[in-house]
Amino acid sequence: MLLRNRTDLSAEAVDTLTGADQQASPSSAASIAPPFTALEEPLQVAAGDEYAQLRQLVKQAGLLEKQPAYYARKFVLTLTMLAAGLAFLALVDNIWLQLVDAVLLAAVFAQMAFLGHDAGHRQIFRSARRNDIVGLGMALFLGMVRTWWVDKHNRHHSFPNELGKDPDVDIPVLAFDEKDALRKKGLFRIIVKYQAYLFIVMLSMEGFVGLRLAGIQYMFRKKLKYPVAEPLIMIAHFAAYLGLVFYLLSPWHAAIFIVVHQVLFGIYMGAVFAPNH
Ligand SMILES: [Zn+2]
Repeated sequence: MLLRNRTDLSAEAVDTLTGADQQASPSSAASIAPPFTALEEPLQVAAGDEYAQLRQLVKQAGLLEKQPAYYARKFVLTLTMLAAGLAFLALVDNIWLQLVDAVLLAAVFAQMAFLGHDAGHRQIFRSARRNDIVGLGMALFLGMVRTWWVDKHNRHHSFPNELGKDPDVDIPVLAFDEKDALRKKGLFRIIVKYQAYLFIVMLSMEGFVGLRLAGIQYMFRKKLKYPVAEPLIMIAHFAAYLGLVFYLLSPWHAAIFIVVHQVLFGIYMGAVFAPNH
């Protein structure tokens, strides 16, 4: 209920609250001292406005502060792992070692998706443009249409888990309540009947299809925030990703590598996002 009242809040406050899992590093928790003294202070908000009170507590506790050191560490670690993963791929010729590398690079891609998420919330820098640049950079690594994701994600946070309004619970192959399940027809109805078992399969397709298809459709139908850069980023991603994998590995190894990499990337990302909804 609290989250629904967010439309009157600044984007930053909303975003930081919802992205709290990314921010709550031990160091940040330690820097909030003492954590709940704010409770004893009189709150400068209208009585009964629970969300405003919560927001004020969060602000007083310092949780909306930017964390440049945390993100600097995260970026250095993630990009170093990416470089190490690519270097390893260039050096080994054994398929099993290449698949171990696919596991590592799936984790690296998921970490980049989380950084892209935080940049979408303008959580990393104060400047919107700098956050956009990071977001576009992550879109280049992951092969995503940035405007599509930001649009979808904003609607998700405006109406979290509200059927008919939150695009993240408007998925043809999943039903989120009985009425939703009964509305499904044909093949979708059969899939929904077994959705608990098929869920992991669906997550595994998230990297391959989920992130790409809807974004590409969006690109042809709606206005992009960066109409020149975003299509170029998509083309550059596929050229670089496929070019590099097929250049470094033999064709069969490359095909197996891509499947394992994308499936694990989707499962990792989905396993983080699904329980957080
Ligand atoms: Zn979010």
